[in-house]
Amino acid sequence: MTKTLLEKSKEHLWLPFTQMKDYEKDPLIIESGNGVKLKDIDGKEYYDGFSSVWLNVHGHRKKELDDAIKKQLNKIAHSTLLGMTNVPATELAEKLIEITPEQLTRVFYSDSGAEAIEIALKMAYQYWKNEGYQKKRKFISMNNGYHGDTIGAVSVGSVELFHQVYGPLMFDSFKAPIPNVYRSNSENPDQCRDECLNILEQLLIENHQDIAGLTIEAMVQGAAGMIVMPDGFLSGVRELCTKYDVLMIVDEVATGFGRTGKMFACEHEGIQPDLMTVGKGITGGYLPISATFTTEDIYNAFYDDYEKLKTLFHGHSYTGNQLGCAVAIENLRLFESEKIIDRVNEKAEEVKTLLYDLELLPHVGEIRQLGLICGIELVKNKKTKEPFPFNSRVGYHVSLKMRELGMITRPMGDVIVFMPPFASSSDELTEMVKIMKNAIVEVTQGAATIDA
Ligand SMILES: *Cc1c(COP(=O)(O)O)cnc(C)c1O
Repeated sequence: MTKTLLEKSKEHLWLPFTQMKDYEKDPLIIESGNGVKLKDIDGKEYYDGFSSVWLNVHGHRKKELDDAIKKQLNKIAHSTLLGMTNVPATELAEKLIEITPEQLTRVFYSDSGAEAIEIALKMAYQYWKNEGYQKKRKFISMNNGYHGDTIGAVSVGSVELFHQVYGPLMFDSFKAPIPNVYRSNSENPDQCRDECLNILEQLLIENHQDIAGLTIEAMVQGAAGMIVMPDGFLSGVRELCTKYDVLMIVDEVATGFGRTGKMFACEHEGIQPDLMTVGKGITGGYLPISATFTTEDIYNAFYDDYEKLKTLFHGHSYTGNQLGCAVAIENLRLFESEKIIDRVNEKAEEVKTLLYDLELLPHVGEIRQLGLICGIELVKNKKTKEPFPFNSRVGYHVSLKMRELGMITRPMGDVIVFMPPFASSSDELTEMVKIMKNAIVEVTQGAATIDA
């Protein structure tokens, strides 16, 4: 007898960030997608409430994007970027440099956000070496930061749940606090920001001679639970990096390409990173392309006769893949022709209004939003902000309930993630928020029993 797809999946697959014991109980296989919906092998449809892990921009099966790939496929699928380039990778580089912060003039491609961070770390480290500063070898990273899952990216990350177990494998980095207004004593954003900036400055005063760079997500800490930084924090960090001669590495993997209502989230604070990473939305959520941007100054520190050994010794097999770059170019064209950034801002206002409806629910602690990034933090006690116990897995159960009701998303602990594709219509957004509300109500009413 031939095995069913579900049997095959349970017998052979090992899924990312997944306890396979959970998967076996609630397996799911997606067969197709269209617009803002996904369809499983039984024909059940779901809203893609998290844009397939924060990637999707224009919805699934966007004709223009499909066509761009087909057109490129008639020429070539892939050739290497080692020592040569290709047509779409070159065209895309120019377009990216046009839209990224002015100071960034060079693009280094890779295939995932984590790799883009690894490359940024190596660039920052080797920059100082090439410039003759032997001591500047360490990094500062933010508490609860997330930059991907390879060892370098994990070393500058600090989401305890994912990262603790790998502790002995990591290189040391200094940790600086990040303002979390909801969890602060004062709940005053300015005070919270200034306290964190003061601690960072102290750290820099004491250690800047040893520090090559600082890594930080732009405006929102995604994996930490959609923690939105108070006004002035990112620009405050920029000022301190400049003052103490530390390269600022801004991670725009989640926030880049319109998510926050600006093309890049660092535009909210008008800052110029020394290095910047992007991924996720760059191809509209179609193919694995990521990039590390840097300045002409950093680029020039690597530019010399080969024998000087200043080359950046880094590369991946699929770097600059033509199909990926072709679809990324079309994605960027659509940002212009469909005025996507304006649309994100309009939709974000609609979502904000829709989410008011959740604010009064007894277990909704805080709703955080920047553009079309939303996190709804569920707590056991709204007044004291006491979280649900870890083993009650309320966020997980709410997500399963949403799946049953027709929407897919993945929580960060007990923070429900809502990141709809930009293409969602008003009716679709209304429907998605309704599903979210019903799932939260249903699961948290039973929270006392889950608790036991
Ligand atoms: C997703 C993400 C990454 C890692 O990207 P991958 O493509 O999954 O490796 C890095 N930084 C941030 C902020 C992210 O959200």
